[in-house]
Amino acid sequence: MANKSYEEAIVSLQNLISEKGELGPVVAEKIDEMTAELQISSKTFDPVHRIKCGFNYFKTEIYDKNPELFDKLKKGQQPKFFVFACSDSRVSPSHILNFQPGEAFMVRNIANMVPPYDKLRYSGTGAAIEYAVLHLKVENILVIGHSSCGGIKALMSLPEDGSESTEFIENWVKIGLPAKAKVLAEHPNISPEEQCKYCEKEAVNVSLANLLTYPFVRDGLVNKTLSLKGGYYDFIRGEFKLWGLHFGLSHPCSI
Ligand SMILES: [Zn+2]
Repeated sequence: MANKSYEEAIVSLQNLISEKGELGPVVAEKIDEMTAELQISSKTFDPVHRIKCGFNYFKTEIYDKNPELFDKLKKGQQPKFFVFACSDSRVSPSHILNFQPGEAFMVRNIANMVPPYDKLRYSGTGAAIEYAVLHLKVENILVIGHSSCGGIKALMSLPEDGSESTEFIENWVKIGLPAKAKVLAEHPNISPEEQCKYCEKEAVNVSLANLLTYPFVRDGLVNKTLSLKGGYYDFIRGEFKLWGLHFGLSHPCSI
């Protein structure tokens, strides 16, 4: 089934390319123009060069200068943290929390959401949680929200009639609907921007609660081999807040 859809996608791409070959001269000229523009912009940014430079820097300044660490990591990984963070390019946990290679197993997705246990809809996230908790035996799960999150804005902007205009995004961010409902009930009269800020934090709490729907996470909490933490990175103010879950949410503290 999956292979068939993959093959169909390739065929439709090939058709599209062959159709382009038959386009009229005006459209063909337009494509030439666009290609020329692309070449001009590629002179200012060369992705291959950027990737090569990035790896060269890592290899000479980090990999080669830390043989002990990387020799240890060749044998396996024992990360202390399992981190959920947003895919947003500004919030990489490796940067904002200075996690070193081997320190944090990670899932990044739109709006840093942990979906509830569901083998059919969310097997990708479930597999990561199962692997982190049962095989890597991580001791801390940290869910990090952040300021100006586009995913949370999408959640707060969902049409009330339930209609959807995206293929995946709206359906995905609905995981945070309980957070949206709480924010709207508790703060009905503040601006949409302020509501988003509350929701960015409240959605982290929904994710922490959803983690409890995974039996191996519950077992880890009961046996005290696992702790759950919520975090919030505000890149406007340059602040990070951290709070815990001990069968009830504790008050956040700033770091
Ligand atoms: Zn985000």
